[in-house]
Order: sequence, then structure tokens, then C-alpha cells
Amino acid sequence: MSDGPQDAPDKSPAPSTSPRCRACQLQLCKSRSERPHAALTESKGDSMMRGTEQQFLCKTCGATLINSSDLAKPGWRHQR
Ligand SMILES: [Zn+2]
Repeated sequence: MSDGPQDAPDKSPAPSTSPRCRACQLQLCKSRSERPHAALTESKGDSMMRGTEQQFLCKTCGATLINSSDLAKPGWRHQR
């Protein structure tokens, strides 16, 4: 017999579900012309990347950040 939904009433201050490290969080707030933070290493994206986007891999948290020079897109964004 189950007791209904188990919605752990924990009061942990976990800020949503963000596995990104602080440097990456900050990076996403920066403008497209800002350089990647120190732990970001450029990685070659797939052929889907049409030259307007650079892909970076964070050595700290493993997140993949995209820097786009396409004005229709955010300068920095996170890719899952
Ligand atoms: Zn990171």
C-alpha cells in the first residue's frame, strides 16, 4: 500500500536543478563579447554549428556552454 505522493518536504535551499558551477552561471549573464571563463575549453561542435557558434566545455562542472555571434540568439547559453 503506498501512502500517496512522496514529495520530500525537505527545506534544502537547492537553487532549482542547476549543476553548473558558479563561473558558468556568471558566464551565462555576460555579453556575447565576453571571453569564456578560465575553466572553459573550446570544443569542436558538430557540423550543426554553422560558424556563428563556439562550443565550450567546462572543466569544473562539465557543462557545455555555447557562445553565439548570432544576434538572434543569446550570446551565452547552456547546452545540455
Ligand atoms: Zn562550469
